[in-house]
Amino acid sequence: MKFIASCSYGKDSLKTIDVVLNVLKLPLDEIVTVDVMFNNTISAYYPEVEEFRQKADEIIKNRYGFEIKHLRADLTYENRFYQVRGERAKKENRGKIYGFPIVRGAWCNSDLKMSAIEKYKTQLGESFWYIGYATDEKKTERQEKIINCTNLNMYPLVKAGLTEKDCYEWCKKNDLLSPIYESFSRDGCWFCHYQTLNQLRDLRKNHPDKWEVMLRLDRDSPKTFRPDGTTIHDLEARFASEDSQMTLEDFIKIGGEE
Ligand code: SF4
Repeated sequence: MKFIASCSYGKDSLKTIDVVLNVLKLPLDEIVTVDVMFNNTISAYYPEVEEFRQKADEIIKNRYGFEIKHLRADLTYENRFYQVRGERAKKENRGKIYGFPIVRGAWCNSDLKMSAIEKYKTQLGESFWYIGYATDEKKTERQEKIINCTNLNMYPLVKAGLTEKDCYEWCKKNDLLSPIYESFSRDGCWFCHYQTLNQLRDLRKNHPDKWEVMLRLDRDSPKTFRPDGTTIHDLEARFASEDSQMTLEDFIKIGGEE
């Protein structure tokens, strides 16, 4: 049996590694993560998050002696986005590419992340996976899992009595706090359809190369980016208009002088 900690680089999963090894002293064979990819060369993570993941790898290697194992799914976002739907698709979708995932039942999480984990679990055979839930998990489904579990070693943070705040403080003190906790950049893919308007504004402003990719995907997708019909081009027009308003306001602020 192999004992595995899966790492998302969030505060809870990083603290879980420490609790397993240093607090509860439980067996650990591997630390595993999934690298979600936009295509074969471009990562799905914001550059600052990607940088943090690499820094955390070094810290974990030096502190605990573990090289994090990076898994990748067989598919990338771009592969699936441009894949033509076959006979099993609904009639109106047959012969069209997938395009942007729909919000409910999105293909991306299962195809780009979970499939890699499932494949690795099958390769491993029998394995025990530690899960980084804290004692104050908000989601009912998670609380139920904790209450119903037969071996609390599966939830090391719960066994050690740690809350999400404890994990946050520990990561901060140990130089392992992801930049996602300090800005509104989310812990997800830069092309994610769940992003808020502010996150998309930030993507356009600070990562114009990626925004260009979004505009290209938008032109090619048979589905709109938002389920309400909003496209990336609609957002481009809105953000550009905000920028020109800003220029006008700045112009007024400086007294309208050229
Ligand atoms: S972060 Fe968004 S785009 Fe990335 S896998 Fe999750 S739901 Fe899909």
